[in-house]
Order: sequence, then structure tokens, then C-alpha cells
Amino acid sequence: MLETRIKQTLRDVADFPKPGIVFKDITPVLKDPALCIEITEALAAQLKDIKIDVVAGIESRGFLFGLALAQALKVPFVPIRKIGKLPYKTIQQTYDLEYGSATLEVHEDAFKAGENVLIHDDLLATGGTVVAASKLVNQLQANVAAYSFLISLDFLNGKQRLDLFSPNTFSLVSY
Ligand code: AMP
Repeated sequence: MLETRIKQTLRDVADFPKPGIVFKDITPVLKDPALCIEITEALAAQLKDIKIDVVAGIESRGFLFGLALAQALKVPFVPIRKIGKLPYKTIQQTYDLEYGSATLEVHEDAFKAGENVLIHDDLLATGGTVVAASKLVNQLQANVAAYSFLISLDFLNGKQRLDLFSPNTFSLVSY
């Protein structure tokens, strides 16, 4: 089963980036090209009944399968980045972290009004990051069609926060 193979390939790194966090390291997955192809196909298959006009990937690990997924779905890809990285005019959303805050940006012409956007990231934890990304989508009058993750940490209940934007949340692996 694909979920089992992904779980067996991922590497848990304890106490990174700070004590108490078990970091899900996807770099061993990236070294297995056959597994990466299967992952991209499985991510696309989960979305087959949902109308998607554009895939938005979140910096930085959301870029890895985000672009592959956009190509599999034959739709454009948009990068959502941390502040100060995008060259053209941007809009911004600031969100709270456990300590302090962070800001995400997207180009102001990234989405057209009424477009259906899939938001992709490697991992769903508390949902704070993708909620900020969703607000960027809505700021440009586009809709969040669905969320797609490789990994979901279900015990953190992030999905509840995403339901406010879209009921469609998918992942290949959950804990
Ligand atoms: P959150 O906003 O709490 O849902 O956190 C999600 C973001 O933080 C994603 O971009 C993840 O890549 C990263 N992240 C959070 N927790 C972990 C973890 N345990 N392992 C790997 N990445 C994580």
C-alpha cells in the first residue's frame, strides 16, 4: 500500500527544529523517483472529481510535489512564498506562530477572480500556514477548491480550520 511505503520511507527527526517536535523529513522520498511518480499520480487521483484551475504550492516543500501535481492536472502552478522573495507586486497575509509571527506573499496577478485554487503543502500540522494561504486566495476573489498534503498530523486538528474555506482536504499519509 502506498501509505505504508511512504511511512516506511519518511525519516522522523526528533527535536527539530526545536525540542518536542518530531520533524517528518521527506528527503528520503525525493531520492526514490518511482515513489515520487506514484505519489504525484495518487495526489492527482484524489482530486479527480474536483474542478481545479490552478495549483498553489507553499514555500518551500510545497513546491516539490506542487509543480508535479499541477503538471499532472495540466493546470498552472503558483508559488506562495515567505515575505521578501517574490520579485513583482505582492499581497500579504501575516499569521501567528507558536512564538512570533510569519508572513506569506503571492503576486497580485497570481489568481483571477472566480478561479478554483488547490492549495498544496507537504504537511498539515495546525493549519495556520494554509489558512494564511487561503486568505491570499480569497483576497484576489478566487476560491479554495481543495487542500492536498502528503502528510496530515490529524491529532493537531488542522482540518477543522480548513473547513471554513473548503470541505475538501486530502492527504496520502496520516498520523
Ligand atoms: P502548520 O501551519 O502548523 O499547519 O504547519 C505546517 C507547515 O510547517 C508546513 O509547511 C510544514 O512543512 C511545516 N511543519 C510543521 N510541522 C512539521 C513536522 N512535524 N514535520 C515537518 N514539517 C512540519
